[in-house]
Amino acid sequence: MNLLFAFFAPVMYLVFPEVRESKFHEHALPGAYYGPSRSTESENYCDVWNGTRFFAIHKGCLRIDERGVLALSSRTSKVAQPFTKDADADSAADLPNFDQWMTPALQKPISQQSAPAVIETELDGDLTPGDPNPITPFIVFLHAGHRRLGEFGHYVRRLTKGKARVVAIDTKRRGYAHNVLLPRVFAWLKQLCALALCIAILISAPCSPFAPMRLERSTQGPPVLFDSANPDGVKLANGEVHPLAEGALRLHRQGLELARDVHAHGGGVVVEHPVNHGADSMWPIRGREAHSTLFETTIFRDFTNDVPGERVFSDQCAAGAPTRKTTQWYCNEPMLTPMFKYLGVLHCPERETPDHPWPHSKTLVGKNAAGEWNSEGSDEYTTTLSGLLALAFIDGKDFTRSTVPVTDVFDDFATISTTPSGGPDADATAGGGTDNTDASCDECADDNDDRGGDVQIEKLGLSLIHI
Ligand SMILES: [Zn+2]
Repeated sequence: MNLLFAFFAPVMYLVFPEVRESKFHEHALPGAYYGPSRSTESENYCDVWNGTRFFAIHKGCLRIDERGVLALSSRTSKVAQPFTKDADADSAADLPNFDQWMTPALQKPISQQSAPAVIETELDGDLTPGDPNPITPFIVFLHAGHRRLGEFGHYVRRLTKGKARVVAIDTKRRGYAHNVLLPRVFAWLKQLCALALCIAILISAPCSPFAPMRLERSTQGPPVLFDSANPDGVKLANGEVHPLAEGALRLHRQGLELARDVHAHGGGVVVEHPVNHGADSMWPIRGREAHSTLFETTIFRDFTNDVPGERVFSDQCAAGAPTRKTTQWYCNEPMLTPMFKYLGVLHCPERETPDHPWPHSKTLVGKNAAGEWNSEGSDEYTTTLSGLLALAFIDGKDFTRSTVPVTDVFDDFATISTTPSGGPDADATAGGGTDNTDASCDECADDNDDRGGDVQIEKLGLSLIHI
């Protein structure tokens, strides 16, 4: 058995319970393999470098992934052999993966691990057109974002022990097979939403076309597509609606049509959108007086006639988001009470708490040093928010009649608790502070300016307008 590993391979090492200060202390920390131990004669110990010092760790108490380091030894590694021709170069090494135990002395480190990744066993599979319809009650989540642990569907699966699921739709997950603007995909979603088993729909459509930051003409940002004078999209010189606005509306129209179908058979409907920051709003911002949102468009007003409901408001910072991100959730009658119960309690405490840094220092305005928009990636729900949404959507529902067996081998090693932190049991962060919504502070009120979103809208919408 080989007792040496590749030098400086990344590891996660156990922090013994005796030296943990509390149960919130990390159980394992990252480090780098630093050779055999110099302080312990047993060959079962190695040294680990943690960035400031090295120390002995029992080899049974660390997970190591040598693949990245070993890949450097290849003669066609572009990193170590920069003159390698691109055509001959190895593909990039995988990122370290500590999902499961691996025995480096017995398992080939170059190969992929044969056991399925935790994400595969923890999450329901994504569906695409043509897949069999779900046989358990399900919630359609339109524009769900990337597939990840701690997402909405993960919580629904855990809380219902697999007796209900989420059908998550997003081009970030399954590409064109999830593009609601393609007729085939939309037809598939229509028939899903018409099923009695479809108990609810959650829509989180891209909000970047309505971002208040577009109104700042001084910054060379993207064009204004909607304002209070043109709630249905600004017009071009030739009198036509701006094609980007048209593309955005098209995307929303599809989602709202699906929501109508779910509502028609008594299902729950929730449509999420950032709040209005215009002059007459509850969250006015200087310079954004003309802000207009999806909820001011004619297609949405028509929708509220067909699907009567009310809005619930949340500050997403109270659920772990780096900025305030005040959000409105348009809910139909069946969803209103649970959404008020779980989401309506999220309110920026406007002071520092263990879960809530204050003041909000992260800005979504402008670009960072690397030239990326600061708002990039700010549109995905935090784990806490996903958990609260799951609680709201399954609230008061009985899934016990379902007889589908559940295989959940990870119950003993739950990667998430079923009660999200900051959730209903931890209402210390919710409802605190004052009701003063001083939204003149750009840091906490500006949000969701996903300027890269234009590209996505363009990809989704413009290329399809003429089909
Ligand atoms: Zn806050």
